[in-house]
Amino acid sequence: MLTKSDYTHRYLECPMHLWVWKHKQEEMHHHSQNPSLLWRFEEGNMVDVIARELFPDGVMIHGHGADVQKQTQDQIKAGATTIFQAAAVADRIMAIADVIRFNPETKKWDIFEVKSSTEEKKEHIYDVCFQRIAFRKAGFDIGRVHLICVNGDYLRAGAIDPQTFLITKDITEDVDEVEDIVEADITKALVIIDNATPKAGEIACTCVPKECMCIAHCYPGLPDHSIFELMRISGPKAQKLYASGVRLILDLPEDYKLTTAQTCQVQVARSGTPIIEKEKIAEALSKLEYPLSFLDYETFACAVPMFDGLRPHQAMPFQYSLHVLPSPGAELEHHEFLAKNLGNTIPEIAASLQANLPAKGTVIVWYKPFETTRNKEMGAFLPAFTSFFESLNERTYDLMDIFSDQHYVHPDFCGSCSIKKVLPVLIPALSHKNLTIHEGMAASLSWYRMFGPEKSVKEREETWGNLIEYCELDTFAMVEIFRYLMNLSKA
Ligand code: SF4
Repeated sequence: MLTKSDYTHRYLECPMHLWVWKHKQEEMHHHSQNPSLLWRFEEGNMVDVIARELFPDGVMIHGHGADVQKQTQDQIKAGATTIFQAAAVADRIMAIADVIRFNPETKKWDIFEVKSSTEEKKEHIYDVCFQRIAFRKAGFDIGRVHLICVNGDYLRAGAIDPQTFLITKDITEDVDEVEDIVEADITKALVIIDNATPKAGEIACTCVPKECMCIAHCYPGLPDHSIFELMRISGPKAQKLYASGVRLILDLPEDYKLTTAQTCQVQVARSGTPIIEKEKIAEALSKLEYPLSFLDYETFACAVPMFDGLRPHQAMPFQYSLHVLPSPGAELEHHEFLAKNLGNTIPEIAASLQANLPAKGTVIVWYKPFETTRNKEMGAFLPAFTSFFESLNERTYDLMDIFSDQHYVHPDFCGSCSIKKVLPVLIPALSHKNLTIHEGMAASLSWYRMFGPEKSVKEREETWGNLIEYCELDTFAMVEIFRYLMNLSKA
């Protein structure tokens, strides 16, 4: 059986992903290890619930498996004309539609697919096309097909209004255009499902397998410093190298065409010696003005804005950590804020930051576009703080620039400038790996879930401590990296 998820989340991503899912699921990382993916499902469900308000006469199909098709047919026989989670199963394919509605004028069923994104994407058209094929095969006379997306311009004011929060678009003609492709894909996908032991190269792959759940199956024993770690290498280029037997960055042909950043990466891999441009580092650091403030935000974003004044998917800061170095060699100060509820956190976080952030001096962050965008948004949200956040942005310096500008390149950064890669190489005593929360998405979701009614006081206290520890390490890491670079540039 080929389900809609098999087609959209697996086959379209990579045919091999579908094969591993059907034949070697035990070799995949489980979904539960990917908080971003889980959150996407959860957000999708939240938007689905709001979209159902557009169809007040809808009836819901519950459950999984073969029974849902029978339930759908039973509801139709009982006279239902709008059905949520309606199922169609025929010719080894299965689809569940968010909404189907009988149009009394055309005497056909229309399909509505709900997405939590704010824009139509190519894969949505394929997704709806797959559904239309499945429903037609199952005997439904299908009329128009629609996509219901979140309105990116929606600004929450009071209760969510489904009419303005969501945008419905008729995509019938777009779906018509891809029908032949999707029909052919279904045939190929079913062949893949039936193929118990594919021969080498039989299932095409164009991936750079850093994030894929199937990496252990497709690239067993992939060594560190593999060609897939080459900065911004494209899938087809990486695959061509892999197919020709090149596994390691060290093994790249001498005349292989590289970008400037890749050239530095290959150079340090070959020599085993980092590139350290002391003068350029010294010049960059000499522009920083004391007191130095090391600042980091943690944010939470949801397709459904949580309070008035927020837009869908707008990242809302709920936590900051601030280390202040008043002068060279002075004692380090630390301030922090962590929101105690899921309400509007912005006034409190802005007031706390204004109270604790020195009025002058450089504000040091890691990956400036993130923090400065949050500052702009908070300034726009709170007119009384607009000039505070503008001034903060004017004196913000991105410590990551030292690394992205290739002034310091180490083979163990593995082509990344992320603080999580840089920190353990420069300051081995510090690492995010030992923390319970060790990346931003996990922090965001831990904060959100901490307020769930099922959480005990003890669980909340534990999460609170983990969040404080995680965010504090991010700014302390910047302090230590800064100190390391200062010492280096003076040596
Ligand atoms: S590791 Fe690559 S080839 Fe394997 S399933 Fe993932 S994307 Fe496809």
